[in-house]
Amino acid sequence: MSSVNTAIQLITREQAERKVPAASTCSPALARGPWDFDAAESRAGAPAYGPGASSADVAPASTPRQGQLPEEYKLASDAELDARIRAAKATLGDRAVVLGHFYQRDEVIEYADFVGDSFQLANAALTRPDAEAIIFCGVHFMAETADILSRPDQAVILPNLAAGCSMADMADIDSVTECWEQLEELYGTEPDADGRVPVIPVTYMNSSAALKGFCGDHGGIVCTSSNAATVLEWAFERGQRVLFFPDQHLGRNTAKAMGVPLEKMPMWNPRKDLGGNDEQTLQDSRVILWHGFCSVHKRFNVGQIDKARAENPGVQVIVHPECPMEVVDAADSAGSTDFIKKAIAAATEPATFAIGTEINMVNRLAAEYPQHTIFCLDPVICPCSTMYRIHPGYLAWVLEALVRGEVLNRITVDDEVAGPARVALERMLAARP
Ligand code: SF4
Repeated sequence: MSSVNTAIQLITREQAERKVPAASTCSPALARGPWDFDAAESRAGAPAYGPGASSADVAPASTPRQGQLPEEYKLASDAELDARIRAAKATLGDRAVVLGHFYQRDEVIEYADFVGDSFQLANAALTRPDAEAIIFCGVHFMAETADILSRPDQAVILPNLAAGCSMADMADIDSVTECWEQLEELYGTEPDADGRVPVIPVTYMNSSAALKGFCGDHGGIVCTSSNAATVLEWAFERGQRVLFFPDQHLGRNTAKAMGVPLEKMPMWNPRKDLGGNDEQTLQDSRVILWHGFCSVHKRFNVGQIDKARAENPGVQVIVHPECPMEVVDAADSAGSTDFIKKAIAAATEPATFAIGTEINMVNRLAAEYPQHTIFCLDPVICPCSTMYRIHPGYLAWVLEALVRGEVLNRITVDDEVAGPARVALERMLAARP
């Protein structure tokens, strides 16, 4: 039977070899088969994402359900799955392209034709116009973006439909629409003397297609962790303030670096009237931050940075801007996955790096740059537990189905959502620093 926890075992071994204090995972459930979650039911009866996604996280009712992975894929050995995936890929040739996110486990990444962040991958798919199928080994919102940007006749496939993103689910279209209605009632809709509307919606790439569409429909825009400052500048030129969702940390870290005072960045709690704020606070605001976060990046703390510095004199600490503000402030630098990769690639002399981002990416960088000492700030092994559900068994399943002419687990964004979402994405591409 295939080992479900190969990545976890490798990570543990590598950390032990480098004498990095580690030893435990953030959830023992990570060593179980991802297919266990296909059958899991939450207390409310809705499909559950399972431990590690976020506390008591439950997949939204609209989440597609794939049913159970056939037994043969659960029971297959690693070697058998490897042979079947390679054979299916060889048969499909240019008809299929496999994309692997930076945070994806190594046992899946080895079959990827492209590896990158979500937006790089969506664009990489465009460079393979012959591909009838785009197999996205990431999470649901990434596959949606690829579907929005790809041709209608190209099928975007998410090998395991349980691979969602807990952060993306923290802002749903109903809550954001309700928030917007309350803000319109408070601010009105008339522009000021400089022609700036009261508020511009900005959504992080890590959000549902419905929210990207909302931004397209309401004069708003999408951002990535690479271009968030450029996008906020774009928004401030057109609006008196910004409603930023779903990640409070990326919004706060970016706006703070641009000089926006913290007291002008109230948080919007969707469960409370006016998001839990009084009218004056919202009137005075420059960036209204949605109450969302990444369960992986939220784990990093200043104590880990202090410890890394005490134990590794000269260490460079680089963290992702989805980390809390005090962590970003304490680090030597902060930036997107691409920024982190480039910072390490640019180091000409052997150096020590403590990184605050997802563990699979950190360990891949450590393997790629053996001249450096590279380790994850978090001593507890905590991969993106939802992306982790793309086990090789699911990849073999969807690829072999394609060979038979069947498309499984296709992600399709309706035209009425895809149209405005594309507008918001195109505004992002046109925004220049
Ligand atoms: S690392 Fe965090 S934000 Fe990224 S896909 Fe996983 S849960 Fe979502």
